[in-house]
Parts: sequence; structure tokens; C-alpha cells
Amino acid sequence: MEKKEVVVIGGGFAGLWAIRELRNAPDVEIKLIDRSNHHLFQPLLYQVATAGLAAPSIAAPLRHILRDQRNATVLMGEVSAIDTAARTVEVAGRKMSYDYLLVASGATHAYFGHDEWERHAPGLKNLDDAFAIRARILSAFEQAEAASEDAVCHSCLTFVVIGGGPTGVELAGTLAEIARHTLAGDFRNIDPRRSRVLLIEAGPRVLGAFTEDLSAKARKQLEKLGVEVMTGAPVSEIGPDFVQVGEKRIAARTILWAAGVAASPLGKQLGAELDRAGRVKVQPDLSLAAHPEVFVAGDLASITSEGKPVPGVAPAAKQMGSQVAKNIRALIAGKPTSAFRYRDFGSLATIGRHSAVAQLPSLKLSGIFAWWFWLVLHIYFLIGFRSRLIVLINWAWAYFTYARGARIILGNEAEKHTHGREKEGS
Ligand SMILES: Cc1cc2nc3c(=O)[nH]c(=O)nc-3n(C[C@H](O)[C@H](O)[C@H](O)COP(=O)(O)OP(=O)(O)OC[C@H]3O[C@@H](n4cnc5c(N)ncnc54)[C@H](O)[C@@H]3O)c2cc1C
Repeated sequence: MEKKEVVVIGGGFAGLWAIRELRNAPDVEIKLIDRSNHHLFQPLLYQVATAGLAAPSIAAPLRHILRDQRNATVLMGEVSAIDTAARTVEVAGRKMSYDYLLVASGATHAYFGHDEWERHAPGLKNLDDAFAIRARILSAFEQAEAASEDAVCHSCLTFVVIGGGPTGVELAGTLAEIARHTLAGDFRNIDPRRSRVLLIEAGPRVLGAFTEDLSAKARKQLEKLGVEVMTGAPVSEIGPDFVQVGEKRIAARTILWAAGVAASPLGKQLGAELDRAGRVKVQPDLSLAAHPEVFVAGDLASITSEGKPVPGVAPAAKQMGSQVAKNIRALIAGKPTSAFRYRDFGSLATIGRHSAVAQLPSLKLSGIFAWWFWLVLHIYFLIGFRSRLIVLINWAWAYFTYARGARIILGNEAEKHTHGREKEGS
């Protein structure tokens, strides 16, 4: 039997779920190419950034995940070019051919034309980002403890999160908890409980994708945790130690960006139409109009289902990945492909201990019930029994003690952080 070469770019939710769906296909040889060696559970990335979990709890080596799938090979490398006419992809100068291609390289941060803001306000997308953010947060408390001037101390203890979507809300809520509880007794010169945590959102409300009542409840829960929420407040400038919002200049040394995403640049190489966020407009079966053998799935795909745009969330990426696999099998068997239909199981956002909101198809929850629901679901969806167990133990410990066990500033991260400030002359 002649085997078909299936190349998958990206071992995120879409790529991995496609490969798993092809596990019993004897007529395919799959090559998964990813620039990192691990699959990352991004929904819990903020926990690494805020020292709640260590990296291996939310990331697993792709090679290990696919060790028993004999028709799949993992290659670590960055895809730099795709030639749909020649049916090849290029990795580190090497061209690899394919019969079927799935591009699932996800999304990255978008600074709305202000790329210079990135060095002052890092975003959260991968483990490197999470380590850098963790270093900034922990270093800010250390610098405040060492500061001789009140103004410096004050700006070190001011944390600004820009963007009131689920990631911004999670970060702000957790930061408030760290300041009020985790670090409360650890310092001698400062009182971490006096820290300010601001959540700044350009739109009229936080969690804009949720219903108005849930979004209002989320705001209340944030405020109860001590977060100052500013809505209708577009940021016009970000510097090393300030954020400008209208006439207001907020002095802050730790500024985090959770405001925008743009599709992976690989989308541009496919020669297909892109939407405003750079996502590839795909056919109903997730293929390209000019290339039925090329599929796009996950955050990189722009598609509607039942008249509504499919959101950039993990369940959508998984479902798209599975659908692509089914369609590849159909094409190999000479059968027609099927259209993708998104099954929306609802949305969840956590805010802090006992605080969350859940918008399910026939039920809305907020507060402690939503929080428990969020907790159980996130543990359940983690890849691997070991990760689930470790996260469970960590969270149980944190629940009773408020401790955050991963409060380590690594040499390099701390150095990068301090040097950045020195260069900026502050
Ligand atoms: C901080 C954060 C929190 C989130 N929280 C939630 C949540 O609570 N619930 C939810 O449902 N969704 C959440 N999401 C969104 C969810 O994680 C994404 O929708 C989902 O990961 C998209 O899956 P994907 O496979 O398209 O891309 P990804 O999971 O991003 O995977 C893309 C893969 O492609 C690889 N890659 C990229 N470019 C290249 C290249 N050129 N060459 C080789 N490999 C490449 C990357 O290394 C990565 O492994 C969150 C996202 C973030 C960033």
C-alpha cells in the first residue's frame, strides 16, 4: 500500500488532535513539525507566569505524547516557508514534501501597530513569556523592598494588566491574590498588601465575550479581590515605567499585555485570503479553495459555523483538528469531505480563589460554583495522568496555604529584567 505523506505544522491543540484522530490510519505517514519540543496547555499558562505551577505541569514533550503512535514522527524545527505549488515546506533549509498539509501554527501577540510596546509590556503565549513575566512580577517586589525612594517603591508595587479578556482577568485576579495573601508576611520594608493592581480595558466592560450580567459579576469579583478595574480606557502609550491612559499617566514597573492576538505569520504564505487578524479564510471543510489538499485549523483559521465566527479557543482548535483528520481520510478514500461544525460547550473564566464565571449553553454560573467547575475541568483536560496529579496536589496545597511554590527567579531572567531597566536609565 502506498502511504500518503501528511505534514502537520504545529503540535498545539489543532495539530495534536488531528494526529491522534489519524492514529488508526494505516495508509498515512505523519510528520509533525513544531519549533518547540512540547505541547503546551495554554489555558494554565498564567499559573506558570504567576508562580503557581512549574512548567512541566502544563507542558508535555510531543515525542512522549506520540511515542505509541507508530505512523507519526516528530521533528523539532521552525517552518520558514510553504510552497503550495510544489507541495513542500521548508525547515532549517531542508525541503519536505507532502501529499496533505495541515497548518496549525496558532497565533501570537498583537500590539496594534505599536511593536515597541512589547519590551515594556510582555504578552503571554508560551513558556518563555511565562518565565519572563514571573521574573518581572517577583523582581518588582524585590526592587520595592530594596528601594530607597517612596516613588520608586510605589511604582514597583503597581502592576498594570492591559486587556480585560479571560487572560487579563486571570492575571489581574492572581496578582491581587499574590500581593494580599501569598507574599503578605515575607518582606520587612514593604507591605505587599499595599500593592495596586490595575486592569485596563479599552472596551466598555471586562470579559466582553460573556453576557453583560456575567461580565458585571466578574468585575465585582475582581474589585472584591482588590483589583482596580478601568473600562472604556484605551492605552495611548507605554514606557518602561508608565502607562498613559487619556490624560492619566500611571507609574508602574510591571506592565503586562493581554490585549490582542494576531495569527501566525505562516498564514500569509498560503496565498489565500486573510481576515483582519491575519487568519486564513478557509472553506467550510477547513481546506483552501485553491488547494483542497491543504488544511488550516485552530487559531490560524477564520471560519464561521452556523453563521457565527468560531472563537480562538482550545475546544474549537481540537474539533477543527479532528475534522481535518476525517477529511484527509475521506480524500484518501476518494470520498467527499464534510463541513466543520463547531460544538460550543460554553465559556469559562477564572478570576481568583472561589471567583469565576461560566457561561454554559443552558446555565450561567458565577462565584464559587463556577470556580470549582473551572478547576475540575482544567485538571481533567490536562494531558497525562502525572500532570493532573501534580496540578491537583499543587492546587490543594495552595488552597489551604495560599502558597505559590514556583516563586523562583532564575539567574538569566532576573539579569534580563535588571539590565532592561538599567538600559532604560531607571
Ligand atoms: C494565555 C492564554 C490563555 C488561554 N486560555 C484559554 C482558556 O482558558 N480556554 C480556552 O479554550 N482557550 C484558551 N486559550 C486559547 C487556546 O489556547 C488556543 O485557542 C489554542 O491553543 C489554539 O490551538 P492551536 O493548535 O491553533 O495553536 P497553539 O496551541 O498555539 O499551537 C501552535 C503550535 O504551533 C507551533 N508553531 C508556531 N509557528 C511555528 C512554525 N513556524 N514552525 C513550527 N511550529 C510552529 C507552536 O510552537 C505551537 O506548538 C488561551 C490562550 C492563551 C495564550
